[in-house]
Amino acid sequence: MQTTRIRWITLLVAIAGCQTSPLGRSQLMLVGDAEMEKMGVEAFEQLKSEGKVSSDAQANAYVTCVANAITGALPAKDATGSGPWEVRVFQDDTANAFALPGRKIGVHTGLLKVAKNQHQLATVIGHEVGHVIAKHGAERVSDQFATQIAAQGAGAVLGAVTSPTTQGLAMAALGVGAQGVVLKFSRTQESEADLIGLDRMAAAGFDPRESVPLWKNMEAASQGARPPEFLSTHPNPATRIQDLQKRIPDAQPIADQAHKQGRNPHCG
Ligand SMILES: [Zn+2]
Repeated sequence: MQTTRIRWITLLVAIAGCQTSPLGRSQLMLVGDAEMEKMGVEAFEQLKSEGKVSSDAQANAYVTCVANAITGALPAKDATGSGPWEVRVFQDDTANAFALPGRKIGVHTGLLKVAKNQHQLATVIGHEVGHVIAKHGAERVSDQFATQIAAQGAGAVLGAVTSPTTQGLAMAALGVGAQGVVLKFSRTQESEADLIGLDRMAAAGFDPRESVPLWKNMEAASQGARPPEFLSTHPNPATRIQDLQKRIPDAQPIADQAHKQGRNPHCG
């Protein structure tokens, strides 16, 4: 029986294939871009319908300015999906943000207290967009399907890919499910998102050096009784600060080039 299940997985991988992340890591992909975009759009609609969208015009304008600067400077190969990106601020005290396939970005009001300026906010939005560019959501959905196939057989799982019963799974895999069922990104995925995000925020003309104080602020905010959700699902700030410091000399010329091309964002 076990052998049969492994054969199913092998077959699926052969059909759907492995892809390569922007940093050269091979990824299991059982879900297509169109399916992921549909899941992202549905998840975002669900979040908006829960009534926590902030009506603070100033906060929405500030976050939209930073997000648009980043998405407007994405190279064609990273511009996933089509049409404009939708950006919303959500009334939530946790220092968190997310980006979804289908061109959706959400920022919690709590993050605006931790990210002290536009460059620090760009660090987080760049990181979240980095997860989308590297298809980490699709990778998590694929891993979940592979696990379910191993447990239940392929027929049951593949027949249910688009059914409502898998919607909770999709939202969890996208990182926006109900509390407690959010699947964590792996350390490897986090590091990829950090490095891609740093390059993308620099390409928009933001200061990559501000990524270090951002993560120090995050660390300080986590000293309280209730650490920000963003940190509880993300790796050790000290490690990521070290990795970012190593990358800044590569990102700085990208920012210099952006400034020469007239990309000098002044948000908020
Ligand atoms: Zn992340």
